[in-house]
Amino acid sequence: MAALLGASAVLFRALPARVEVCAPGAGGMNSAPRRKRVAIIGAGPAGLAAAWDLRYAADIDVTVFEKSKGVFGRAATRTRHGARLDPGANYFRTDLPDIASMVLSQLPADDLVEIAGDIDVFDRFGTISAGDPSLNGEKKWTYRQGINTLGKLLAAATQCEIVFGTKVGGIQRISRSRSWEVVDEGNRRCGVFDAILLALPAPQAMALLPADASVCAGALAPATYQSQWSFTFAFDGTASRWPGNAYALINEDRQHEFAWVSRENAKPGRMPEGMLVVMAQMQPGWSLERFHSDAGELAREVSNALAEFFGWNSAAFHWFDSQRWKYSLPTGRADTDQLRAMEATGLYVAGDAVVGKGRVAQALQSGLDVARRIRDSA
Ligand SMILES: Cc1cc2nc3c(=O)[nH]c(=O)nc-3n(C[C@H](O)[C@H](O)[C@H](O)COP(=O)(O)OP(=O)(O)OC[C@H]3O[C@@H](n4cnc5c(N)ncnc54)[C@H](O)[C@@H]3O)c2cc1C
Repeated sequence: MAALLGASAVLFRALPARVEVCAPGAGGMNSAPRRKRVAIIGAGPAGLAAAWDLRYAADIDVTVFEKSKGVFGRAATRTRHGARLDPGANYFRTDLPDIASMVLSQLPADDLVEIAGDIDVFDRFGTISAGDPSLNGEKKWTYRQGINTLGKLLAAATQCEIVFGTKVGGIQRISRSRSWEVVDEGNRRCGVFDAILLALPAPQAMALLPADASVCAGALAPATYQSQWSFTFAFDGTASRWPGNAYALINEDRQHEFAWVSRENAKPGRMPEGMLVVMAQMQPGWSLERFHSDAGELAREVSNALAEFFGWNSAAFHWFDSQRWKYSLPTGRADTDQLRAMEATGLYVAGDAVVGKGRVAQALQSGLDVARRIRDSA
């Protein structure tokens, strides 16, 4: 270890006896010319927005580590039975000027589409009423190919290396060089960096911290998350009718088993003809009780509940898809003052943990904000 890190290097947390290099391109202490090296952990909205912002910073090299095979985290898209589905974030807004500029002016917008139709509300008894007119006056955006297109566009526009399929297992501070080392879950070394940006849900970020980073852990602790099951069904479009012209229905009092129900056909160019594709995102309490239940059994329960909710004669569906989110939306916010104080050590945090609510636009903005501070400190 001493040979790899240099004789003066001291890790705050001891590295395991056996270490390997996880990503050859990710570099080590001896490989790079002296440009500032930044590691971003998580290629979700916050991490990619930060990487995108840093693309023209001539004196900064960025490496993004992403555990999955694709980009955009909980703003996910997948193809099932010829339909493009978004099992996490349903749409995003451009009410923040930086995000409007990014999405509408700076990135390609050929595939960008507005979702037509209001978001109406329902109560614990399933009684539906009109939604907030001012919120319904704001545009709801997605892409024809799915919401994760925004992540793909950001990734394509960055100049940085994105290391997919690498789950970071820990970060350790090298005290005298004021650097940080990243290791993957197999304890293989992934490189040494001048700054680290943690851009992932707070509980996952906390799991990466060294034992002596208790201030950072304490600052992240208030950012707790709820868990959620998300189901998508394809129903026969003639037998199962969506009431009215709304795009979606949201439960306002949080007492109904459905948190959110949407007509995915409202997203242009996504769904097979003749089918009504409905997404049901379940209430956290319902989801937690059934977190380890079988998805197929739950799908039958949920489709029955949808049939009852909408007054259909049959709950039969052609196919379903499901996603279980352990960390879906934040229910608290990290202590941002304490996190800002940590930045002097080269440790930064972005994402909905610092926003305190689950919104793609705000997570993007937090990535842009942190990237500016990283640039300023270079
Ligand atoms: C069911 C659901 C519905 C939602 N609806 C909406 C909506 O309609 N509109 C809206 O604006 N927002 C919505 N959101 C919230 C939105 O998706 C999040 O707020 C946003 O994705 C947060 O971005 P982030 O970058 O902070 O984190 P994430 O999107 O979670 O990205 C973090 C990334 O880090 C990666 N990662 C995690 N651990 C590691 C590790 N150890 N090593 C490497 N990589 C790692 C993950 O794979 C992921 O790609 C919804 C979310 C869910 C789950």
